[in-house]
Amino acid sequence: MLSGIRPTGFLHLGNYFGAMRNFVRMQNEFNCYFFVANWHSLTTHPDTQFLKKSVNRVIAENIACGLNPDQVALYVQSDVPEIAELYLYLNMLAYKGELEKTVTFKEKARMQPDNINAGLLTYPVLQAADILIHRAVKVPVGKDQEQNLEMARNFAERFNHRYGEVFPLPYGFNYGGELVKILGLDGEGKMSKSENQLSTLYLADDDETIRKKIAKAKTDQGPATENAVKPDYIENLFTLMKLVSSEATFTKFLDDYNNSYEGKCLIRYGDLKKQLAEDMIAFIGPIRDKAADLQSNPDHLKKIIQQGAEKARASASETLRLVKKAVGTD
Ligand code: ATP
Ligand code: MG
Repeated sequence: MLSGIRPTGFLHLGNYFGAMRNFVRMQNEFNCYFFVANWHSLTTHPDTQFLKKSVNRVIAENIACGLNPDQVALYVQSDVPEIAELYLYLNMLAYKGELEKTVTFKEKARMQPDNINAGLLTYPVLQAADILIHRAVKVPVGKDQEQNLEMARNFAERFNHRYGEVFPLPYGFNYGGELVKILGLDGEGKMSKSENQLSTLYLADDDETIRKKIAKAKTDQGPATENAVKPDYIENLFTLMKLVSSEATFTKFLDDYNNSYEGKCLIRYGDLKKQLAEDMIAFIGPIRDKAADLQSNPDHLKKIIQQGAEKARASASETLRLVKKAVGTD
């Protein structure tokens, strides 16, 4: 099982419930590789100091969320040079036309027209190398990544066809039915690392910030009829409450909502938000504090990252040995 995350910003509640929570579960069931994709983030030419800090923070936040670095391989992409070597081999099997056609390339090219570098074009090849270097078969990805995963399968198949069977084919993985999408508190779009920041709850937010953001969450004057369908922004508050509050609290507010109608409004959004804020603080607080703790001890963090690199390189060098033997460069 393999998954990566780009160090492009602060991790948020959407990342937690949409991705990390599942990773924490997977680590008990599969042989897991998780990495911070710092080479990938170079396509946008980030500031060097910022990049280094972000890498450490993402590692720390993942551990704080429950990933156990003794159990999984938690590593930084650039610590595993075997990935770059495989990337070279795969580039010989990737065609300009197909790379230019990928949705993510076209999107990124539109967003940064002055910096359409070759790394951006060959992003799917590097992604394929990330996966194939461990001969991973399960890749938990969102819908937006399906095309890139298909390309990874294509490159693997081409390699196998030309040089001999080395790679099993990787497929998307999720726990079915349980995919959550956390909207921004303003009800516009989703919580995000890079957009919508005032409406996104970050795992690094302090208590006061959490209170303020939730207090500003969009609501309205209440439902007009009993058992009314909830607008997105109200549904989202209940989604959050279901995730972080007690069953009894959730049920109380839901009953209040369902029994409210115009002229008799039982649901008090002010109270709901206050309760949600306190429960959110109880949820985010320990993660934030643990992540901060880890980041305040760079030597310890460095050891964890080294340990991850060793595990990843053990698996990667074995794959590369097979690749070179197949190609004839051994
Ligand atoms: P960026 O703004 O840089 O695209 P992001 O916040 O969208 O960042 P990604 O790095 O693109 O985060 O995604 C990491 C993981 O988090 C993916 O598995 C994605 O599906 C999940 N994820 C991101 N945002 C949400 C959200 N609001 N709700 C649920 N899952 C989410
Ligand atoms: Mg995204």
